Amino acid sequence: MSEDKHSLTPADRLAAIKGRMASAARAVERDPAEIKLVAVSKTFDADAVRPFLQAGQRLFGENRVQEAQAKWPALKEEFRDVELHLIGPLQTNKLKEALALFDVFHTLDREKLALELVKARDKGAPMPRLFVQVNTGEEPQKAGLMPADVGSFLARCRDEWVLEIEGLMCIPPVDEEAALHFALLEKLAHDNGLSQLSMGMSADFEKAIRLGATYVRVGSVLFGARG
Ligand SMILES: *Cc1c(COP(=O)(O)O)cnc(C)c1O
Repeated sequence: MSEDKHSLTPADRLAAIKGRMASAARAVERDPAEIKLVAVSKTFDADAVRPFLQAGQRLFGENRVQEAQAKWPALKEEFRDVELHLIGPLQTNKLKEALALFDVFHTLDREKLALELVKARDKGAPMPRLFVQVNTGEEPQKAGLMPADVGSFLARCRDEWVLEIEGLMCIPPVDEEAALHFALLEKLAHDNGLSQLSMGMSADFEKAIRLGATYVRVGSVLFGARG
């Protein structure tokens, strides 16, 4: 009899995803070590997250500052080398809290946020590692720069604001072939001399890896369906 997947332990599920990531990498002759797993723990409480920490996972993603603030300070005391990734939109009035908690922002998506980051840096705040979010599907309701604006925004980050950008991030439209969006993001990163790509979620992380992802953001296949 095959085991019900919910009887798998967090360590089993983590190992299974890492195995799938490594296979996808090797299929396109990439080194699996260059692809990082961000475990997206949004909506799951500390008790659900702890077994993944105990199994060795250290990179976690959250999409809401307030939720992360309630959950992570205590966990970070227990597991000091955790790296926290902000993957949701950031309101500038939450920037201070976000800077105190997150190591990496995947969602730098507008000038106003860049300017507030610069202000915070000038006051002595340490800068997170930064990804610029691109609205590859040009969806009106979605955050991120239009693809046509990415080059000039990155140039301003570099020359005007002196913000170091590590890479690009996208969330493809739900009803379109994700591969087209991953390929577009890869091209934009390549054209702008960026090496890091945050793309791919539970349903499509292997495809994203085949198209160049260096960070995949995986939630439900690790933690279970969100309520
Ligand atoms: C929730 C979320 C994920 C993870 O989605 P799953 O389908 O559960 O893997 C990845 N990226 C972002 C930006 C998210 O909000």
